[in-house]
Amino acid sequence: MIDQDKLVDVAERCDREIEAKIRALKAVDFELAYLALLTREGIKPLSRWEKPIDDRPLTILRQMDLHVERIRRKVRSGKVFDETIFGRAAMHLEIYAEHFRDRPVDKSAETVRVEGFLFGYPPCCVSHYVRQPYAPHEFPMHQQEILFHWSCRGCEITPSLIPHYERIHRIVCGV
Ligand SMILES: [Zn+2]
Repeated sequence: MIDQDKLVDVAERCDREIEAKIRALKAVDFELAYLALLTREGIKPLSRWEKPIDDRPLTILRQMDLHVERIRRKVRSGKVFDETIFGRAAMHLEIYAEHFRDRPVDKSAETVRVEGFLFGYPPCCVSHYVRQPYAPHEFPMHQQEILFHWSCRGCEITPSLIPHYERIHRIVCGV
């Protein structure tokens, strides 16, 4: 017979372990913790961290069952810097590296489309953004602010995503 209490115990303990990791990431940066949990929960296939980061948070991300990689990029002046990407499936990191490793940072339509696919943005919002970045939409700003994509007007996918982003945002705020 399955001991229900024991199962609950295990789930509780896992949650507490994750909570401790989220708290540690939050001490580095709120947004890093938020991205980490969104990605771990599969809401975003891949996330990118553009600020410098040391080894400790990278270890925490790996302990959260995420693949982590540093990607060398260039800016137009030729200066190089490292981005950190993390995701649950190695495939998404490979696709990112294939497109962007050692390449200059740019905002081309191709870049926006590839990033949109990898970062879990609705395709309608991505194509709309390519045509007209930051076009007005009907979503309240407090909802737009917790998203990483700019919603398209009348979006049929964003309303389904918002409760999931809100749930993760609340967890990270609360730990
Ligand atoms: Zn949309």
